[in-house]
Amino acid sequence: MALLVQKYGGTSVADADRIRAVADQVARAHRRGDQVVLVVSAMGKETDELLRLAAEVSEDLPGREMDMLVTAGERKAIALVAMAIEAAGVPSGSYTGSQAGFVTDTNHRNAKILEVGAARIRAALDEGRVPVVAGAQGVSTDHDVTFLGRGGSDTTAVALAKALGADACELYTDVSGVFTTDPRVVSSARRMHSITYDEMLEMTAAGCPKPAMRSVEFAHRHGVPLHVRSAFTWEPGTWVVEESPDMEAALIRSVVADSSEAKVTVSGVPDQPGVAARLFRELADEDVNVDMIVQNVSAAGVTDISFTVPHTDLARAVQVCESQRDSTGPTSVVADQRIAKVSVVGAGMKSNPGVAATMFEVLAANGINIEMISTSAIRISCVIAEDAVDRAVQVLHDAFELDRTTF
Ligand code: ADP
Ligand code: ASP
Ligand code: MG
Repeated sequence: MALLVQKYGGTSVADADRIRAVADQVARAHRRGDQVVLVVSAMGKETDELLRLAAEVSEDLPGREMDMLVTAGERKAIALVAMAIEAAGVPSGSYTGSQAGFVTDTNHRNAKILEVGAARIRAALDEGRVPVVAGAQGVSTDHDVTFLGRGGSDTTAVALAKALGADACELYTDVSGVFTTDPRVVSSARRMHSITYDEMLEMTAAGCPKPAMRSVEFAHRHGVPLHVRSAFTWEPGTWVVEESPDMEAALIRSVVADSSEAKVTVSGVPDQPGVAARLFRELADEDVNVDMIVQNVSAAGVTDISFTVPHTDLARAVQVCESQRDSTGPTSVVADQRIAKVSVVGAGMKSNPGVAATMFEVLAANGINIEMISTSAIRISCVIAEDAVDRAVQVLHDAFELDRTTF
């Protein structure tokens, strides 16, 4: 008998048929003797729809009201899923984040979990029920409803698995695991049997949407085994685990694309101590999330700095740069939204030189220009033109023979 926390993403509970399919599967696991706790996302694209509606009635989007609004999606989903499980003959019960004991800070829209009580969830399990918990939400220390941010349901599931001492946290989604690249872009992408937390973290940092980065960090810190798998075929998926001695480090495990960022270039910046510090301190104070940074060699005492930010932070970033156009600031500020980042990730590159050279050669041979480069010990990322990104992913996936590798 296992204690499992199962998280279902939006597509997995998108309509009544999907909800009934999930309920049947949960009922089967319950009858096998497993204890199951569900964490559920809003149905389909409902979170996007709620955000769109909000933008139609307000320019300010006040945090407290926004969190009340977006968490409504998950609340609707948990009630429907709990009813479907009861209809499948298994006692259930729905719980909001607050009822499940999720206490957060007061940082609306992107609240951090401070504590997971989970007393009512434990009690429900003891009564033989399948509790269904709303993902991505909690109650703040000021007693307001809070949202954990986009993709926050994965974090809810991992935090609950930790609090309950679950055997595993299963993240059910619309693909059957973690693949060598997005299987919707490259049809020859292969599913991995397992991947280390470190590699998974690099993939999420590079832009892979699944699992959400915060949930992988949390799982790594607390040793929660993650199993990413399909809510459509129910076949075994990909385990995200600690590195084990018998795991051969693959040279490259995956190619990741990210079109969610834009590039800002500030030119004519004086090449003297403190200038970059002032710019990036100001950007940080405005909550701009800077990813890659490149500073050019200076000529005649001035230089250029380019950096990338999420599209959602672009307007604020440009505003900060413009506000610094005084005596020690830049002479021009240019934003480019039509860029994308392509990355290769693999722990084996630590001990094998030449991965960067191969990556650059493959892009060059396909006429794809590299605008920026950044690396970590196990990742190389290049900024390229957005319209070349699907091709870049395909040719890199082929060049590193990821379609032929078994992990
Ligand atoms: P959910 O809503 O179920 O939480 P997401 O929609 O956030 O899941 O993420 C799942 C999607 O991630 C898949 O539909 C797939 O297209 C995409 N994806 C991108 N890269 C990968 C990858 N390397 N492996 C698996 N899925 C990926
Ligand atoms: N429904 C929320 C979102 O779309 C939370 C989640 O699914 O993780 O971001
Ligand atoms: Mg989703």
